[in-house]
Amino acid sequence: MQLSKVLQVFRDQGLENSDLLTFTGALNVLQSTLGTAVCWDLKTVNHAFFRSFVLNEHSRRVLYRGREARLLALALTNRFKPGGAAENPCIVRKSTCTATFCINPNHYYWGTKQDMSLERTFRKYPQLNPERIQELKRLRRAGLTYGQLASTFEVSPLVARSLCHNEKHPKSIGMKQLDMELNSIAPIEEITTPINYNKVTCYWGHKGNFGAQGECLDCIKQIKEGFCTIDLSVFKFEDYWLAKAFWDKVDISDSNSCWNWNGLMVKQGKETCAYMPSPFHATKSHSAQRVAFWLSRGYTGKLRIYKEKTCANTCCNPLHLHIKDLESAVKPTGFKTIQLSHAPVWKSVEPDQAAHQS
Ligand SMILES: [Zn+2]
Ligand SMILES: [Zn+2]
Ligand SMILES: [Zn+2]
Repeated sequence: MQLSKVLQVFRDQGLENSDLLTFTGALNVLQSTLGTAVCWDLKTVNHAFFRSFVLNEHSRRVLYRGREARLLALALTNRFKPGGAAENPCIVRKSTCTATFCINPNHYYWGTKQDMSLERTFRKYPQLNPERIQELKRLRRAGLTYGQLASTFEVSPLVARSLCHNEKHPKSIGMKQLDMELNSIAPIEEITTPINYNKVTCYWGHKGNFGAQGECLDCIKQIKEGFCTIDLSVFKFEDYWLAKAFWDKVDISDSNSCWNWNGLMVKQGKETCAYMPSPFHATKSHSAQRVAFWLSRGYTGKLRIYKEKTCANTCCNPLHLHIKDLESAVKPTGFKTIQLSHAPVWKSVEPDQAAHQS
């Protein structure tokens, strides 16, 4: 597989490496469970693994996150949209394919509108094939009428006529040997190019600078310097409400006390659970400790947060929380500020006023 070319197709569609993994994984599942010969009819597949696929009854297409799935599937088998051709290339479904919502790449190829109509003819008249059409043309040249051809080939005279006048086939009718095993599909490990983080922003307004655990490296820098503050005025408008909703459930007290979490508890009441969407997590809930850390010290992605041994289970006092890897860092001595009022946040409603930590 030409990985860079395939990746480019995904990028051109606004998709990321993780999509390539998901998509390739889905095709691999279909290949190993159904084999390469039959239709991979997503209408018959009901598995969470395929939840990113949508069947569009109107356009009769399978969409992967809104993109044409067959285009992606063809790319994975090294067939890319031909460029610079006079005719508009389109994805042609072979006549042998029996399911509208099939995404088996063996059942598709890049062709033209004419190829499409020919495949439709083949689908409707299974007795026809490229050789038969050549024969039909020969007989026409030998003087047979359309009516005679029609009865010989069991089609209507109109179809016989159009087959005679279709100049392109049978040369380009897509009966080329396209059937291939999909073992050329990338194994998951092959994809090593990092995700493009350029557009990802942490709660604190830092952009595109993340480590392997999804931790914001700008935040890590400030954490190492002992940074600690509860200041809702620094967050963007949408994050402000989330942060406020979080701290509203915390008994904010003095530096030494444990701050009790009053929100949701899970695992038989042993673990805290707080709502906070995170750019590097599929789930939107985390331990209250993690969220407290993110909102007071910095965004640390998947790094684990630990409480003091003496802390209550529900404690989310940021001064009692730490990350083991950052043991050497300066410990915060207190809060720079505790600002839970909303007043300043209204300023950041304007687009370019995304709050930045100074
Ligand atoms: Zn098919
Ligand atoms: Zn950050
Ligand atoms: Zn504590």
